Amino acid sequence: MIVDYLDRSVATDLEADLCIFGAGPAGISIARSFVHSSVRVCLVESGGFDFEGLTQRLCEGTSAGDMPFDAATSRVRAFGGSTNVWGGGCIPLGRADLSERAWVPHSGWPLSHVELSPYYQRAKSEFRIDAHDIRNLELHCKDKIRKRKKPSGGYWQQRQN
Ligand SMILES: Cc1cc2nc3c(=O)[nH]c(=O)nc-3n(C[C@H](O)[C@H](O)[C@H](O)COP(=O)(O)OP(=O)(O)OC[C@H]3O[C@@H](n4cnc5c(N)ncnc54)[C@H](O)[C@@H]3O)c2cc1C
Repeated sequence: MIVDYLDRSVATDLEADLCIFGAGPAGISIARSFVHSSVRVCLVESGGFDFEGLTQRLCEGTSAGDMPFDAATSRVRAFGGSTNVWGGGCIPLGRADLSERAWVPHSGWPLSHVELSPYYQRAKSEFRIDAHDIRNLELHCKDKIRKRKKPSGGYWQQRQN
């Protein structure tokens, strides 16, 4: 059931077991995981199904630090969230992305690559990404990058054969 609260004639009371705020990819994915369960889920979205200037203005803001993107225009306040404008790239983080870098203050994630792995499997099925071994993806990407560097002879030659 979809309730549009701009329509003032709709019921204001709704009962649910779980209430999720925000129908971006995160909220929608969580809500979808309860389909076919007995849990009654209410997914509350600030925007409508289309871009609306008035709602979008709620994204306006300022940043205390350097931010290359404008807060008001780099996110979308509508059903689907920022996936309404995203590139659709679904690329798992590599080990290097999670590790501490001496030259980057506060870097390093409190999660390991291994801990994330099962969640990537779930994300893959949610986004209907074709089956492939995600553990080898990082290696596969690195190989592609290496090939682009036009390696010559020896070790590189053997790898390409
Ligand atoms: C131009 C662009 C390109 C991108 N390209 C990629 C890409 O190729 N690959 C990739 O992985 N990521 C990409 N991203 C990032 C990706 O879109 C975000 O990481 C992702 O959308 C975040 O999902 P989310 O559900 O956490 O939040 P959001 O997508 O921001 O969704 C949050 C939702 O919550 C709603 N909301 C906010 N406050 C409230 C409230 N108080 N009550 C109710 N609802 C509320 C908003 O209206 C919105 O619909 C891109 C982002 C942009 C802007």
